[in-house]
Amino acid sequence: MKRLRRTKIVATLGPASNTPEMVENLHRLGADVFRINMSHLDRGQLAAQVAMIREVEARVHRSITVLVDLQGPKLRLGRFANGAAELEQGAHFTLDDNDAPGDASRVHLPHPEILSALEPGHTILIDDGKLRLEVEEVAPGHRAKAVVRVGGKVSDRKGVSLPDTTLPLAAMTDKDRADLEAAIEIGVDWIALSFVQRPEDIAEVKKVARGRAQVLAKLEKPQALARLDEIMDVSDAIMVARGDLGVEMPLEKVPGLQKRITRNARRAGKPVIVATQMLESMITAPVPTRAEVSDVATAVYEGADAVMLSAESAAGQYPQEAVAQMNRIAEEVERDNLYWTIIKAQQAEPEATGSDAIAAAANGIAATLGISTIAAWTFSGATALRLARERPDSTILALTPKREAARRINLAWGIHAVVTRDASDVDDMTFRACKFAVRSGLARVGERIIVIAGVPFGTPGATNMIRIAFITEEHAAAA
Ligand code: PGA
Ligand code: MN
Repeated sequence: MKRLRRTKIVATLGPASNTPEMVENLHRLGADVFRINMSHLDRGQLAAQVAMIREVEARVHRSITVLVDLQGPKLRLGRFANGAAELEQGAHFTLDDNDAPGDASRVHLPHPEILSALEPGHTILIDDGKLRLEVEEVAPGHRAKAVVRVGGKVSDRKGVSLPDTTLPLAAMTDKDRADLEAAIEIGVDWIALSFVQRPEDIAEVKKVARGRAQVLAKLEKPQALARLDEIMDVSDAIMVARGDLGVEMPLEKVPGLQKRITRNARRAGKPVIVATQMLESMITAPVPTRAEVSDVATAVYEGADAVMLSAESAAGQYPQEAVAQMNRIAEEVERDNLYWTIIKAQQAEPEATGSDAIAAAANGIAATLGISTIAAWTFSGATALRLARERPDSTILALTPKREAARRINLAWGIHAVVTRDASDVDDMTFRACKFAVRSGLARVGERIIVIAGVPFGTPGATNMIRIAFITEEHAAAA
């Protein structure tokens, strides 16, 4: 299957899509990465879903990436006597430490540390900001009495956001820790951490992962944005998590932040995913709004590594249509000359390393000679990621002996990863790069490709060589 789209598609699994047939269909329609959201799953279900994705992967003969999204310290209300209550504007409503079922006057907030941190004047947002309360009086650690500014229906376990309150929260809850251990054990490719506030939060996950999975920071809190550079430094990838970000920050700030984060991530050479509500109306309709199409296109024009579907693919009525639509939008944008103008205008300077110098040179040679494939031999995947940072006009054919590396870098812009044993010498390196270029449908006899690698082979190390190779009949015959 030939797939030349540069921008990757992340599809969240859920009741609408977690069967082998649907995973295979969604993959064929364009999903490169499947996201498993631990907010709604237990560890048995996690194992079953990963096994299902791996089965499909073996069937389609292409790396499929698994991203496990830890719920993180999401604050939730307790339960109500009737499952729900109606809060009237102007009424009083108390959050307290009493675990008795709630009603229209009070409910349990099962987070004592939050009851201690709330102060008069602070805003309490419930259910993604649909309801807004303002704290009037506090009995620290026990209760916060608030006045309802925007009312509505509130029900069991709804999410709570506190944009004004600095939360003394640990990076991971007990559930997150157990989920993380399980995910690492199963062998997933990426772990996403929700509600990151500090670089130490990511460091904590990396300590557990010990290189067995890559770690992605979900940017959804103002505290994280204040330390963006440090968080970018320690993370392997970034997500612009616009859902919670738009609750914690004024909505109109989200588009600018999305641009800023996307550019910073590209400069750092870290994959960035733009997420949430991208084709939201497709949860219930087979065709998206014009504004949604424009939103997906904007993320692609900005050079995002990946765009993501949440409920559209997890719980919607049209998961396949949503993936297919996203695929068409990305392909169309990438065909536009203006896309390449924008991509080139935001080109980051190479850093002073051998890998960056080779990546920049490969990009330059490809442009000068009109070569459409750059093959990169890469052990950890790092060389391919540095090449992706260049955003070359050519497809990046990453050749790696490590299956895990192939799956990880499959999240990144423009990378087509193939698993093959390491090259033994320069002739082998060139021959098999040409062979795989033909086999992947990227190049034909008579065309040239560029090959980059680090020698000596068999030892992970910096990229230090570059070669232009002709595709011959021999390569085609071997493919
Ligand atoms: P969530 O994260 O779907 O896990 O909440 C994404 C977001 O907040 O945008
Ligand atoms: Mn979120």
